[in-house]
Order: sequence, then C-alpha cells, then structure tokens
Amino acid sequence: MARYHIETYGCTSNRGESRQIERKLRDAGHKPVEGPEEADVAIMNTCTVVEKTERNMLRRARELEAETADLIVTGCMALAQGEEFDEAGVDAQVLHWDDVPTAIRNGECPTPESGTDPVLDGVVGILPIARGCMSDCSYCITRQATGKIDSPPVEENVEKARALVHAGAKEIRITGQDTGVYGWEEGERKLHVLLDRICDIEGDFRVRVGMANPKGIHGIREELATVFAENEKLYDFIHAPVQSGSNDVLGDMRRQHQVSEFVEVVETFDDHLDHWTLSTDFIVGFPTETDRDYEQSMALFREVRPEKVNVTRFSKRPGTDAAEMKGLGGQTKKDRSKEMSELKHDIVAEAYDELVGTTREVLVVEEGTGDSVKCRDGAYRQVIVQDASECDFETGEFVEVEVTGHNTVYALADPV
Ligand code: SF4
Repeated sequence: MARYHIETYGCTSNRGESRQIERKLRDAGHKPVEGPEEADVAIMNTCTVVEKTERNMLRRARELEAETADLIVTGCMALAQGEEFDEAGVDAQVLHWDDVPTAIRNGECPTPESGTDPVLDGVVGILPIARGCMSDCSYCITRQATGKIDSPPVEENVEKARALVHAGAKEIRITGQDTGVYGWEEGERKLHVLLDRICDIEGDFRVRVGMANPKGIHGIREELATVFAENEKLYDFIHAPVQSGSNDVLGDMRRQHQVSEFVEVVETFDDHLDHWTLSTDFIVGFPTETDRDYEQSMALFREVRPEKVNVTRFSKRPGTDAAEMKGLGGQTKKDRSKEMSELKHDIVAEAYDELVGTTREVLVVEEGTGDSVKCRDGAYRQVIVQDASECDFETGEFVEVEVTGHNTVYALADPV
C-alpha cells in the first residue's frame, strides 16, 4: 500500500483523468494523503496550455521533488514536452495517465480491494478469482498482507462470471495477485479450465486475463495457449511480469522463474496465436543489478518485443529483504529507466505502426472526452474513436473501425 498525493492542473479532461487514476489507486489499496510531505509518491497531472503554465509546472515539480520520496509527472506537458523535466533537472518518472497506477505498484502484484467479490463498473466486470500468491519475492510487501494463495472452486467463479454477464458486463477482467497459480494449493493449476468454462457462458462478451507470473503459467502454457486459440471471447493478451533478463537478479528477487521459462511461455503463445499482445514488467535498478545484468534485460526486451511494458525504478519497501540490500545510486536507476523507456517507445511504436490502415472489430468499453469513445480490439489494445458523434456508438457494442494513427499508448480510429 502506498500513500499518494495527487495534484491536477488544467481542464476538465485532465480532472477526469485524475479521477480515473485515483479510482484505480484506491481499487489497488493505495491511500490518498493530504500533503506531499506525508506521501510515498506525489503525482502531478500537468497542463501546458501557455508558456507561463509550463514554467509554473516546472517550478511546482521541483518543489514536489524536494518534498516527497518519489515524483511522477503525467498529463499534457508530460506527454508533449516530457524531456523538459529532465532538462530542468527534475528527477521524476514521466508517464502516460494509464501507466501511473502500475508504476506505483513498484513491481508488486495488484491486490483487488474487493477480496474476491466481483464488481461491475459500467460494462466492465472485475472478477478476482483468488487471493494471495505462491511466491515470496524479496522486494514485495503485499505478500505479507495477503498470504498464500486461496482459490475458490471453479464452479463458484463461473457463477460469479455468469452473474456479471447477466448484469450487463461486456468485458470481464479476471484478476488476482497471480492468476497463473489459481488452484495450485489443491495440487492442480486450473486457470485454463476456469477460462474455458467462463467462455462457455452464453452471451457476447470478452474476457481479459489479469497478471500471471511466468512460473505459474510455464507448466500449463500449452493448455492455456490452446484455450486462447479456441475461444474468441478471450482477448489475445497475456500479462506476464518477467522483471529482469538476468537469472542472477531473478534469484536475488526470489522470482522463482528462469528467463528461459518466460521465453518458452512467449514462444508457446507465438505458436498458437497470430496477433496477440505480450504485456510484461521490468524492474530496473534492483540493488544487485550489475551493468551486465541490465544489458541482459535490454537484450530480452529486444528479443520478445512486448507491446505493453511497465518499467519500474526499484524503490525500497520497508520490511522487505531487498530493503536491507545496499542500493544502487539514484542516477544509475534514472539512466537505466530512461534508456529502457526509450526502447519501449520504439518497440511499441513499431507494433502500432503496423496497425495503421487496418480495419478491426472493437468493443466500446467507455465514453471518452468530447465525442470520443474508448475501445479494445481482439488483442486488448486500446483504440480511441475520436469522433463517434455520427454513429452513436454505445458502450458495450462491438463495432468496426479503421485505424488511422496512434500515439504509442493507444491507436486512433475512425468508424467504418
Ligand atoms: S508474486 Fe511476488 S510480487 Fe507478487 S504478490 Fe507474490 S510475493 Fe508479491
């Protein structure tokens, strides 16, 4: 749980983005605090409407950096002129709105606040399938709060999913700290069994599988990839946080998987699915990460070319074993996360370039600002239809669109 302080500048749209960020942070168990001095992390949602505003943003960012442990800048100035913070000597993570909640997790797994109770938010149903995990990562504090994996039976989760569909859910987000170890405490991993059963439920809806650590899905990778290939309801999307490309660092993190196991999971999905999205996480600046270890992470990144990546700068969590390790200097962490974020930008841009000019079916998941709507394609990529006024797109509808451009975080499209 992190204590956060958020400041929002600019228009109603920016205020809307801040509300979204706060909702996700609260859902993940993080707590808002009044002032930056009490916070573990300060979030600045910036505006850049006029030059005077820019100067005010930089001045305020310097103040916040001095008052709090970690600073994240997001919003229009971050997206349009992110380098200015670096040039002004402000040590901050410059992120898109969507990446802020993930960055605050510090590589730890998300813990649904609702325990295992399903939640319906608009046309999106959140279904936590289990609580706890099977790991003991050296940098993680969540594990101490949630304990070992506890998986309700498949039948119980299927009934919860059915209730969400009957209540109007068009997208079911399967969540948990580590969905890949669902059922492990009973001696048999059952994620693929559960997904197959949920896809048997009558109705037109999509299912997104939440974070699954490489160790948990490695042993069932064939069965899982087969279920994905056989079920159109499943978004072709896998979020498997590898965290490092070095087995030495993975050992010090106590991540339980080897780099080769992660690569085998990726290769298995490549064999079964033509177009799918690999999402992963890298922690840079872990205390024992040498230059060679870091280069191994960069090499792995270039090898598997993930389309969605959370790059987290390591920071110590009180009460964890990693907090006892002698840390790397702030500059090293900053340089490595900057370089990896630039590689991420290039690889993601390349993947999105290939989408431009293609036509695809998408699910409208929520209204955007103005006449725009936010959608998801079959590989769970975010697609924004900027002007849906002509065609009355409703949330929950499956529609045809043509991709016309992107900004490396989402694709832009027009209705067909
Ligand atoms: S898998 Fe590791 S990081 Fe995730 S909750 Fe368990 S111990 Fe924490």
